[in-house]
Amino acid sequence: MGLEPRAARGLGIVTCMDSRIEPLDMLGLKPGDAKIIRNAGARVTEDVLRTLVLATHLLGVERVMVVAHTNCKMASATRDQVIEIIEAESAIDVRSLDFRLVADQRESLAVDVQKIRSWPFLPPGIVVGGFVYDVSNGRLLHVT
Ligand SMILES: [Zn+2]
Repeated sequence: MGLEPRAARGLGIVTCMDSRIEPLDMLGLKPGDAKIIRNAGARVTEDVLRTLVLATHLLGVERVMVVAHTNCKMASATRDQVIEIIEAESAIDVRSLDFRLVADQRESLAVDVQKIRSWPFLPPGIVVGGFVYDVSNGRLLHVT
């Protein structure tokens, strides 16, 4: 086992599935530098929390970045719109699903970061930050 670069050690990234985001490139990292958890909207769900328990206790993650992004579909469409689009295109009724859409991106990000900070199954001392990645210019803004 070699020494890992300090900047890359123990980093977990929670981000959106949007294909405009290359999480490692976004941070100037390379494969192996970070554990990456993705879903629609970079939301901190039960499954993300479960994964973070494993990432922190078993894989050495000590810092977690939650990275939302500009022009995220999950933050611009309403629940009714998503349901209508899917039903119009497939005739499948998805009303029973919680898509965790975002009405206020900054507020949702703050709540999601707090969810991780207060999750009792994580080791003490985990550092968590919330960021917004601007897909138009590649800038990463630290929000919370
Ligand atoms: Zn997105």
